[in-house]
Amino acid sequence: MCGIFGVTDNKDSSFLTYIALYSLQHRGQESCGIVSWGKKGFKYYNGMGLVQEVFNRDLISNLSGDFAIGHVRYSTTGSSTISNAQPLFLNTRFGEVAVAHNGNIINSNELKRELSRTGSIFQTTTDSEIIVHLISRSNKNNFIEALSEGLSKLKGAFSFVFLVENKIIAARDPWGFRPLVIGRKGKSFAFASETTALDSTGYDFIGEVEPGEIAVASNGKIKKTKYSKPDKFHRCIFEQVYFARPDSVVLDKTVAMTRYEIGKLLAAEFGKSDADIVSGVPDSGTSYALGFSKESGINYMPVFMKNHYAPRSFLQPQQSLREFIADLKLAPIKDFIKGKKIILIDDSLVRGTTSRKIVGKLKKAGAKKVYLLIASPPIRGSCFYGIDTPTKKELIANRMNLEEIRDFIGADKLYYISLKSLVKACGNGDKNFCTACFDRDYPIL
Ligand code: AMP
Repeated sequence: MCGIFGVTDNKDSSFLTYIALYSLQHRGQESCGIVSWGKKGFKYYNGMGLVQEVFNRDLISNLSGDFAIGHVRYSTTGSSTISNAQPLFLNTRFGEVAVAHNGNIINSNELKRELSRTGSIFQTTTDSEIIVHLISRSNKNNFIEALSEGLSKLKGAFSFVFLVENKIIAARDPWGFRPLVIGRKGKSFAFASETTALDSTGYDFIGEVEPGEIAVASNGKIKKTKYSKPDKFHRCIFEQVYFARPDSVVLDKTVAMTRYEIGKLLAAEFGKSDADIVSGVPDSGTSYALGFSKESGINYMPVFMKNHYAPRSFLQPQQSLREFIADLKLAPIKDFIKGKKIILIDDSLVRGTTSRKIVGKLKKAGAKKVYLLIASPPIRGSCFYGIDTPTKKELIANRMNLEEIRDFIGADKLYYISLKSLVKACGNGDKNFCTACFDRDYPIL
């Protein structure tokens, strides 16, 4: 998880980064930060909390310069503290460097041990700092060569944006796990985790940083090189299932349209039903439910009002807070529920706690039957590449069979879409996804 952004050659660089971080807020709510560079050198500010809590107008105008990068954080490695907030800003042999990272480096313990043994002193507990040490310790003559060498030592998921004097460098792991798109406005370039951040800042999408690629942008130009032989694309399929914003475009389609099509395939698989209405768990469930409704002819009705001012429960690290927030965030719309047989669609079942609560709410509000349909297959594998799934044994699909899960959740029926349909709807003919959370087929371990 985490959202990253970078922009070159624009006098409003930090304001645009601030706007972009707003649109990437769903990718992380623990901390955020911006580093800018211009005539007055580097400027830096970060803090714990949401973008709107951390930044104000004065702080943004202090972050002067034509280049900026930013980050919103959700910790998957390292604790949720201010010292781990990004962008990280460090001094290297090549001068000052700021870096923002999305992903999870799976050989970070090994690398850290080796670097510490030979003298590196780490300032944070994140895996993101490792790349800066690798750059600093390289014998290469320039930053890009040192970066290339460092990147090829990393295993796992990483999309990076680096800010050095007068350039932004973006890099993506050879598997392409985490997203990284490129935008352009005149002679200015932007890099972002999702296209929604390009839309909100007025940049046109011009492509992606490809797996195993470095893109250097400065002075109205962009230059792409391969630092590593790319593996085939292993795009995280869970981005489209749950994580990405519906208005973002992945593989030429908005995520909302992909979810709509998944909903249609889910309806085709599920077959005829005696349900009165179909609904989705907001927000992600709504597009699935609309597609299901279209295919099945069953009317769509919203059965929950989402409180948009409540934080995303999953993004709160402690279980106790998660459960409390889950309750606060969805209110049943009783008149649409009472006496109805309801198909309810959610994107995924992880531990099963959310679904159990939600089904319970529908029953309490008078639903006659609740058929829970899940728009992704059972989650059986923990993610090592940056999506926060719990350990293998906490995953409900590893502890119970279908009937036991249905019973635990309290639904009258439970159905998961097949992986085949999911991949079909998410792709554009290729099958280059990481689906390890469903089939434990890990591209790299
Ligand atoms: P659970 O209650 O553990 O089964 O979690 C499932 C709910 O959390 C679903 O409603 C999803 O929308 C959401 N969700 C699933 N996976 C994740 C994830 N990795 N990060 C954040 N939220 C998630």
